[in-house]
Amino acid sequence: MKSFGYAAQSKTSPLTPFDFERREPNPDDVVVSIEYSGICHSDIHQARDEWGGSIYPMVPGHEIVGKVTAVGSNVSKFKVGDLAGVGVIVDSCRVCENCKADAQQYCVKGAVETYNKLDYTGAPTYGGYSNNIVCHQAYVHTISPKLDLAAVAPLLCAGITTYSPLRHWKVGPGQKVGIIGLGGLGHMGLKFAHSFGAHVVQFTTSESKIDDAKKLGADEVVISKDAAAMAKHAASFDFILDCISAPHDINAYLGLLRLNGTLCLVGLPETPLSVAPFSVVAFRRSLAGSGIGGMQETQEMLDYCAEKNIVADIELTSYDKLAEAYERVIKGDVKYRFVLDNTTL
Ligand code: NAP
Ligand code: ZN
Ligand code: ZN
Repeated sequence: MKSFGYAAQSKTSPLTPFDFERREPNPDDVVVSIEYSGICHSDIHQARDEWGGSIYPMVPGHEIVGKVTAVGSNVSKFKVGDLAGVGVIVDSCRVCENCKADAQQYCVKGAVETYNKLDYTGAPTYGGYSNNIVCHQAYVHTISPKLDLAAVAPLLCAGITTYSPLRHWKVGPGQKVGIIGLGGLGHMGLKFAHSFGAHVVQFTTSESKIDDAKKLGADEVVISKDAAAMAKHAASFDFILDCISAPHDINAYLGLLRLNGTLCLVGLPETPLSVAPFSVVAFRRSLAGSGIGGMQETQEMLDYCAEKNIVADIELTSYDKLAEAYERVIKGDVKYRFVLDNTTL
């Protein structure tokens, strides 16, 4: 199938128009005409090969929403014209214990990511900065028409990546929960933790984001550069979600966990973080991590958002401003997720 989008040709080249082929739909496939695509910081890490192993040309984008334009003969979940969403993975083995436990992102065979991966036939995958996508129905999600479609796009990565750990660690009423970094992931983590009934403290390096953090649901906001403000929260948190995209001192946050508290990393800085043993040995603390979420769990999150009227706060942008959007994301200067409008493709 003929497709077109924007691709990085190398780790130093800007994204430019790119024509490519997608597979013809198989009986279990859904074809989605993409209307909006969120810009995740992972797109930037990978386009610039900050994690290593990037495959070029690369069409980034894994926060995809649009309309179904064709379905294979086995597809019952969708019909032409339905709204649909695709997130970070487009395939997995479907038979390993993790796939069977709705943890396809941890597939033992290795899940196939939406871009910057080879699928099980060895063909490169291309993401959402493009006009369409072909995807097995098991990895395509139903989207409620109740919500603003552009603002739903970021739920497919930023949404599920924060929802999943908050659910896994059973965040709820009576708990003190911290969210570190008010970016795309952080602002969704803040909305969910608040919605689940926890007392939420937002950590930020940006004084300009204090008022927004409160509007988004923070009970308290701490400027993380202020050592005295940090010290006031020592050993008091049940759970902290670390959404920072760049290297930082994690010990400063581990020290804020109470007995048996957990700090979960979702941010993926390009270099290792150093952990002082005393930071975790004291108060029997846990340092954990979490990647996106399972397919059923992603649908559960989308349905929860439709019920509670939760979407991302977005800045719509156009393909001719991609380079500028990337620079602004790196500076932490976006409120709070860029979404590409495909009418500009
Ligand atoms: P983002 O929108 O750029 O947000 C990152 C935030 O981190 C910034 O807004 C800023 O918040 C803070 N920050 C940035 N540089 C910092 C620094 N040097 N020191 C302290 N704080 C800093 O990024 P995102 O799209 O939310 O993604 C965040 C990270 O999660 C990325 O590494 C991304 O690759 C990763 N990710 C992981 C998964 C997963 O499955 N685990 C999924 C998606 C993304 P303040 O201005 O509030 O300080
Ligand atoms: Zn992402
Ligand atoms: Zn599997």
